[in-house]
Amino acid sequence: MRVSDDRYTRDRQKFDLALRLIRHEARTFTIRQWTGLSDDRIRKLYRSYILSGDAHEVTRHRGKSPRQAAFFFRNPELNFHAAQLASLFVMYGLVGPGERGVEPRYRVGSLESGALLCRAYEAYLEMHKPVNISFEHAWFLLLALARHDEVGLARCANCGGVRVRDLLAKRKLTCGNCEGAIESAARAAPCESAARAAPC
Ligand SMILES: [Zn+2]
Repeated sequence: MRVSDDRYTRDRQKFDLALRLIRHEARTFTIRQWTGLSDDRIRKLYRSYILSGDAHEVTRHRGKSPRQAAFFFRNPELNFHAAQLASLFVMYGLVGPGERGVEPRYRVGSLESGALLCRAYEAYLEMHKPVNISFEHAWFLLLALARHDEVGLARCANCGGVRVRDLLAKRKLTCGNCEGAIESAARAAPCESAARAAPC
């Protein structure tokens, strides 16, 4: 009896996580990765979700997931959003300090890690409407931070805040937020702001 109860609870948790991921417009592949549900089961869940009438703005994404770290460095605003998400990943324990900087603390396929990823993304949604970073890009950011080959975390030399660093690009010391402020100051008063931005 207890075994079947446990199984029921586990299945329920899988479905709840899958629905949460569908709401965040995650791809079928991503939902399968995190829940272990079959594509067919996910399709059925997706259909029932649409029919329930809660899905007026949900789009189903097919094809490949994002795989370009350059996306997070496209402009200062996106870089700032990426830094906020990265901070949330640290807060929710998905990554933590390690010998090489941040190291993964999540496990793909764990319902607990999947739920934490959703919670981190939902906290990001609370802060921004509309958001600049989709769930799939957020998941990719977490993977890239854990891989430690293209994206890293560092401290902004100007404001001390968390910034997402492009490990392949030339060394930058400021976060997206400060970079944007310095750029607009440079447009307004080129000489004065160049002197102020010199430490960067
Ligand atoms: Zn800064």
